[in-house]
Amino acid sequence: MPKDSSIPISPKHGINPTMGICLYCGEETGEIGLLGRLKGDEEAPRYSILSYEPCKECANGMKLGVAFIAVTKKAKIQGQPSIKENQELYPTGEFIVIRPESQICVDNGWSAGQRVLCEYELFKKLIEDGGPPTLKKATYVSVWDGGLEVESSCLVDMKTGEVTDIGTVSVNELDNCEEEYVLIDGKKFEVQTDTNDFDYYVDLKNDEQE
Ligand SMILES: [Zn+2]
Repeated sequence: MPKDSSIPISPKHGINPTMGICLYCGEETGEIGLLGRLKGDEEAPRYSILSYEPCKECANGMKLGVAFIAVTKKAKIQGQPSIKENQELYPTGEFIVIRPESQICVDNGWSAGQRVLCEYELFKKLIEDGGPPTLKKATYVSVWDGGLEVESSCLVDMKTGEVTDIGTVSVNELDNCEEEYVLIDGKKFEVQTDTNDFDYYVDLKNDEQE
C-alpha cells in the first residue's frame, strides 16, 4: 500500500471520480480514477486515460505477434508522463502487430508477445505499403440458412488481406452457408475462398458499407 493513499477531497466534487479509457482503442477499461481536488476545483472529466497499459482486448491483440507501439519525442499534453523512464517518449495511441517471422523482428530477435516502442517516423514507414505484414484481430461472420449470423474471431493480415486463425463454431444444425464476411473496425469485407494465393482472403481496398 502506498504511504499516503489519501487524496485531497474537492469541496465541490468530493472524490471527483473519472472512468478510465484505453489509450489505444478508447474503450472503457473498468478502472476508476479518483482525482479529488483538481486545479481550480474543476470537475473531473467523465473519461480519462489513466495509464499507458492497454485494455484486455488490446493487450490480447498485441500478443498476436510483436506489437509496435508508436511514440514521439514530444509530449502531446503538457506534463504528460513519459512511457519510459529516463527518456522522453510519448505514445500516440497507435500500434500495429507484426508477425514474428518478419525480417525486422528476426533481425532484432523480437518474439511474439513482445512490445516494442517505435519512433513515429519508422512507424509510419511500417504502415505504408512495402512494410512487413501486420496482423489485426477481426470478427468472422458467416450467414446461414436465410440470415442466421454466426460470429467468431479471425486474424487479418492488413498488408495482404489473408485471413487466418478463424475460430471454429459449431454449426451442426445449419445447412447452407450463404455468405461469409469479416468485420474490421466495423467495416465489412466479403471473404473470398481459394484464391490464387490464399485459402481465405479479403480485398482490403474494397469495403462495403454496412
Ligand atoms: Zn484497448
